[in-house]
Amino acid sequence: MDAAVFLDTPISRLQGISPERVQLIQKEMEVFTYGDLLQYFPFRYEDRSRIYTISELHESQAGVTLRGIISDIRVAGGGRSQRLVARFSDSSGDIELVWFQGINWISKNISAGGEYLIFGKPQQFGRKFSISHPELEKIQDGKMPASRQHPLMAVYPMTEAMRRRRMDHKAISGMVKQVLQLGERSIPEFLPPAVMQQHRLMSRAEAYRHVHVPSDLLKLEEARRRLKFEELFLLQLRIFRLRGVQQRSVQGIPFPHIGAFFNDFYAHRLPFRLTEAQKQVLREIRKDLGSGRQMNRLLQGDVGSGKTIVALMSMLMALDNDCQAALMAPTEILAYQHYESICDMLGDMNVEVRLLTGSTTKKAREEILEGLAGGRVQILIGTHALLESDVRFHRLGLVVIDEQHRFGVAQRSKLWEKGNPVPHVMVMTATPIPRTLAMTAYGDLDHSVINELPQGRKPIRTVHRYDHERAGFMQFIKEEIAKGRQVYFVFPLIEESPKLELKNLMDGHDMVSSWFPIPQYQIGIVHGRMKAAEKDAEMMRFKKGITQIMVATTVIEVGVNVPNASVMVIEDADRFGLSQLHQLRGRVGRGSEQSYCILTSKAELSANARRRLQTMCSTNDGFEIARVDMELRGPGDLEGTRQSGLLDLKLSDLIKDEPLLMQARDTAAQLMQADPDLQKPEHAALLQLLFSRQGRTVWSRVL
Ligand code: ADP
Ligand code: MG
Repeated sequence: MDAAVFLDTPISRLQGISPERVQLIQKEMEVFTYGDLLQYFPFRYEDRSRIYTISELHESQAGVTLRGIISDIRVAGGGRSQRLVARFSDSSGDIELVWFQGINWISKNISAGGEYLIFGKPQQFGRKFSISHPELEKIQDGKMPASRQHPLMAVYPMTEAMRRRRMDHKAISGMVKQVLQLGERSIPEFLPPAVMQQHRLMSRAEAYRHVHVPSDLLKLEEARRRLKFEELFLLQLRIFRLRGVQQRSVQGIPFPHIGAFFNDFYAHRLPFRLTEAQKQVLREIRKDLGSGRQMNRLLQGDVGSGKTIVALMSMLMALDNDCQAALMAPTEILAYQHYESICDMLGDMNVEVRLLTGSTTKKAREEILEGLAGGRVQILIGTHALLESDVRFHRLGLVVIDEQHRFGVAQRSKLWEKGNPVPHVMVMTATPIPRTLAMTAYGDLDHSVINELPQGRKPIRTVHRYDHERAGFMQFIKEEIAKGRQVYFVFPLIEESPKLELKNLMDGHDMVSSWFPIPQYQIGIVHGRMKAAEKDAEMMRFKKGITQIMVATTVIEVGVNVPNASVMVIEDADRFGLSQLHQLRGRVGRGSEQSYCILTSKAELSANARRRLQTMCSTNDGFEIARVDMELRGPGDLEGTRQSGLLDLKLSDLIKDEPLLMQARDTAAQLMQADPDLQKPEHAALLQLLFSRQGRTVWSRVL
């Protein structure tokens, strides 16, 4: 049979599977073809080589194998409680086996006096054990059944509906075995021979066999390595191909000049000396913008590393080439803050900057839209409001998106539609992304990293304090305020209930006020349910130092810049995720003063929460924190990647399999260099696979 056709065979062709079961498999397992079935991988394996005796049973065992004789088979009860019961005994005792369903079938297929291996979960009734619906295997003439030569039994992902309809691991295993028997030789290899040799990989057919029906641990490991390699290799190939296509076909707006805007700013307006990292990133951006192809760059820089000025200077390059630029931020406060600091930095330079958010008045909005369409407005800063369809530019050359993890990919592509040709895009994120994730989730973007903080910053000191230690740290905070510093108190978001959240925050406010009484202390408050204008007014009062203490929810999480604030208290810190804690902490330590972060919690902590707080206390390094975060939560859970469907990896783990990922990536890079269009005969199978259904599912993102 034609190889590709074999894997595309619908599962309904399998022997002994009812149409209902086919439907169940399609719906619950999303398995439609032989190929899909082979890719329905076990998530763990049970060692069935150990055979227990009845005297060793206890109720906590999840599943045990016993060897013994079945006898006294009889039907008990009647009507709805009818069941089939049998005695099962070995030399150490006896138990009861019970079946509530399939009574006819079972009674026909078991024989009294026969020797069996059974597998199931023991349950205790009084002093006797019983196992309901055990798996059974007949022992013929004292010989172990064939399946026992594969003691590692695959355990597959199961949904509740599958369990209800009595679909078990053995059934799946049976189908897989059938497929392998029918056409193991029809499973095509697509990895080029050179790649197989270089990494000593087993064939695809062999890998499928050993991953489903492992003969021993070593083979299983080899099979998993082969399949993971394949997964990562294909992913990397697709990324490289996508980038190749992008580079060749998406024309960028060429920015050949560095002109008056950039030069004037650089020579006369720089508020500080750029760090080496900032300079380096600007060089990379300059190179991209001059290249004639469209820039797609991810700029990563830890909290406080100074990304805003890099964004501004990049936008000035656009202006120097008669283009407009846009800067999009996830919240109004942030957009406003960017607007303010950019206007501030530009001073009396002749640049038209506008702010457009959801709360821009109708009249102002009209004026802005007109100015944009006519080309008079040069830099537009704003929120999602920039995405609305009536926002049209005269000639949009560069879009900067701040704090990317708050925006979806779809929103990113919406902005691209605003320019023709497509504008250059720079995405800035303060959530450091571990290298492996960056290479996959953002693999279609070029990367720049600001890996150094401006000079003179003192590392933030972070401590964990329990509630009962409050008197001590409140006294410390009073001393800081006496020195002229300012303080944040942040309370957790309560997602299930905005009402409860508000109450929690108000209680928090009362608690803080009881330690810091008016009029000696002024306390501000911001939360997500306030109107943007109110929020801004409160932030402004804090920024100007009218209030010394800001009580807030996580609305202040990203980007807010008040350099005089030197203490961040995060209440119930165990309820925050690591990256969020890091972002919040980043609100202090922005000036030259020593800053502090105090994480509070109740006395009892889960192991996971303890690890998060310990990590925060032991490091300020955003990359290290991101790494631990990914380890604790798993990559699929990182903000911004969950919805994208990008990391649909079936077997690989981006942290644990980093070495394999690097190998796959190098190999993919070499291959693309040698044969960019995969035209060589030894790459034909690979090319075909990249465009097949299996190929497409992993890579679902649009350009
Ligand atoms: P982030 O990367 O978190 O967006 P910002 O751009 O808000 O950081 O910068 C944080 C603070 O550091 C701002 O007050 C900014 O003016 C200041 N800053 C940025 N670059 C430098 C530098 N090279 N030297 C000194 N201060 C800088
Ligand atoms: Mg920022």
